[in-house]
Amino acid sequence: MSGQAGGLRRIGVLGGTFDPVHIGHLRSALEVAGALALDELRLVPNFRPPHRSTPQVAPEQRLRMVELAVQGAAPLLVDGRELMRDKPSYTVDTLESMRAELGEQAPLFLLLGWDAFCGLPGWHRWEALLQHCHIIVLQRPDADVEAPEALRDLLAARQVTDPNALIGPAGNITFVWQTPLAVSATQIRQSLANGQSVRFLVPDAVLAYIEAHGLYRQPL
Ligand code: ATP
Repeated sequence: MSGQAGGLRRIGVLGGTFDPVHIGHLRSALEVAGALALDELRLVPNFRPPHRSTPQVAPEQRLRMVELAVQGAAPLLVDGRELMRDKPSYTVDTLESMRAELGEQAPLFLLLGWDAFCGLPGWHRWEALLQHCHIIVLQRPDADVEAPEALRDLLAARQVTDPNALIGPAGNITFVWQTPLAVSATQIRQSLANGQSVRFLVPDAVLAYIEAHGLYRQPL
């Protein structure tokens, strides 16, 4: 459903380590893109300091795996801007740089899991986030949703029940309910380190890349 709101592209942002990207990320991203009628959903690999990175997996390799994963999977795309710097980017800075490119009117949607959302008050300049984007909280259908005290006023002021009722380029919060696939990058790294197959947990092209480069073979 491209071209809503007078031809403006609707763009979503999903940050993550993607170490490696897997079908849990991709399936969830595709469902949210459908629910919000996004024209693009950008997967944004986060920078990780060298001492916290998986040995033998360079940031460019995490990026390359996401590129391979989203090939032919529109509206999913990859955005490597956080890896272009040599230190972690604050989410608010990433959104500001996207906003500068997209203009003031394009609707921008930041996707956050519930845990990340609850941690928002600890983020750098978190109160500025809603100037640049709407926040989409991904939540399990069976979850017990009790927001932390620090977020209650914000939710009372900004929450919209129906994701399709989000108006304008930024400023509201809504929930999208979805059941995540039981897959994690940690589990995938462990399996590979143990010499087990991760076929069908990652796209075939990602699996081929992991095998060709011998990634994640070292014991954790
Ligand atoms: P790790 O196991 O290394 O912590 P991860 O699999 O949780 O990694 P991240 O790169 O940290 O992957 O996640 C990026 C985003 O994707 C986060 O918002 C996270 O909540 C979400 N995510 C991770 N796994 C799933 C899944 N199975 N289904 C839906 N969303 C997921």
